[in-house]
Order: sequence, then C-alpha cells, then structure tokens
Amino acid sequence: MFPDEKAFFKQLEAKKLALESLIVSAKSSANAVELDQTKIGRLSRMNAIQRQAMAIETERRRKLDLRRLEAAIERLKSGDFGYCIACDEKIPLKRLKFDPACTTCIKCAK
Ligand SMILES: [Zn+2]
Repeated sequence: MFPDEKAFFKQLEAKKLALESLIVSAKSSANAVELDQTKIGRLSRMNAIQRQAMAIETERRRKLDLRRLEAAIERLKSGDFGYCIACDEKIPLKRLKFDPACTTCIKCAK
C-alpha cells in the first residue's frame, strides 16, 4: 500500500467531483448563450462566439484533467500509483502532493 494512499484517494476524488460539477455548470451556461443568439446584435453575437470558443477550449482541458484524475485513481487501486510510467522509479512524494495525477518522475517529465 502506498503511504498516504487514503489522503491521495480523497484528494483525487475531491478534484474529480469539483471538475465534474464545473463541466456540468459550464454546459448549462453554454446552452443559455445559444438561446439568446436570435435576440442579440452582430457585435454581441461575435462576443458570444468568442466566449463559446473559449468555453469549448476550457471544457476540453477540463475533460483532459478529468481523465488524468481517473487514471490516477485507477493506478491507486491497482498499486501502480507513485511510480513513473516511463522508468518505473518512485515519483517523489513532494511532486505527487503538488499534482497527484502526475505520471512521471521529474527526469522523465523533461
Ligand atoms: Zn521516470
């Protein structure tokens, strides 16, 4: 068992939940923008399109983060957590505490 396994598990689950609710609430506000589009002028429509593009990019990044968190939770369950996926060395605890979803040691991250 990985030291601090429970703490990491909690931390990962909490991050995952927070991300999931962010994704859900972003979705409902994106829908609201779409509904207004018939009522607004050209400039505000351009703003809305820009905002939508940013929202899509944000969502893309959030989903990537979510996948990293899910993968980290899987590694905790399988016992691979804390080991670099490239060289199989232990990842320093400090690095894991900073980003529990990281998959490589500092050397391999470069
Ligand atoms: Zn490594």
